[in-house]
Amino acid sequence: MNDYDLLVVGSANADLVIGVERRPAPGETVLGSDLAVHPGGKGANQAVAAARLGARTALLARVGDDAHGRLLLESQRAAGVDTGGVLVGGAPTGVALITVDPSGDNSIVVSPGANARLTPEDVRAAGDLLAGAGVVSAQLEIPLETVAEVVRARAAGARFVLNPSPPAPLPPDVLAACDPLVVNEHEARFVLGDAAGHGPEDWARALLALGPRSVVVTLGAEGALVAEGGTGASAVRVPSPRVDAVDTTGAGDAFTAALAWRLSLGEDLATAAAFAVRVGAAAVTREGAQASFPTAEEVSAL
Ligand code: ATP
Repeated sequence: MNDYDLLVVGSANADLVIGVERRPAPGETVLGSDLAVHPGGKGANQAVAAARLGARTALLARVGDDAHGRLLLESQRAAGVDTGGVLVGGAPTGVALITVDPSGDNSIVVSPGANARLTPEDVRAAGDLLAGAGVVSAQLEIPLETVAEVVRARAAGARFVLNPSPPAPLPPDVLAACDPLVVNEHEARFVLGDAAGHGPEDWARALLALGPRSVVVTLGAEGALVAEGGTGASAVRVPSPRVDAVDTTGAGDAFTAALAWRLSLGEDLATAAAFAVRVGAAAVTREGAQASFPTAEEVSAL
């Protein structure tokens, strides 16, 4: 048996959140709510989301030797994440400046800070963590060469799940390792460029042609679409439960973490996605990112 169901390699940020009536146009200033500071970052979010569901989870990340870094370590430990792989120092902890409007839509600016200093050497030095994980997930809030090293250094047979966010051009060896590549509409359109086509089924087909073993397109309130390469099978729609969305921050992270965990248990992609849409839906019913992630009991009750 593996030491961990899921190893998340990725970012850890302090989310600085302000509610606004509407987001400012360029050059404009708007007044907002009191500032709230929350632990976030796609890597840290995925690790907390998985651990809260009951997954045996470890995080490989870098934070600064500062108050934000301590906040992040504390939130990981409180959720039950193994933080032995979280490196401290080298730059200030990453920060995300987030505005949320009354409809729950958000705009985000990220200062990568310590996340940009998580290096391929750090990955090679974490050999025990990589050797012990059945599934490894990553995102792109850390350097792309670090993600590429994760692909090379993961245990033979370990499944690799990538959410290419924020989107960036992906090298063929990284794309080929993805099982699945998890994208929202924006990321799908970025990866595909002019070849995007007209809808999620077109995107999934075109994405598979780029080399990943499987693809998941998340579709917000509509749920997700899953497609596997090599089987000749067509894409499958996985609807999300209807919920009242309060704040979509972190929904994609909750979805991807839940998906990766269920894949580590041996579920097929469509079955894992059917669980993950419920986790994503539960997450949008509450404020914040990590604070909104459900337990397994809360997902069952949805
Ligand atoms: P974000 O960037 O806000 O974290 P995302 O754009 O990466 O999210 P989405 O496709 O918006 O990802 O959401 C991920 C999953 O969360 C969806 O597949 C769905 O299961 C769930 N979800 C998101 N929004 C809603 C909603 N309004 N109602 C129900 N489920 C939702």
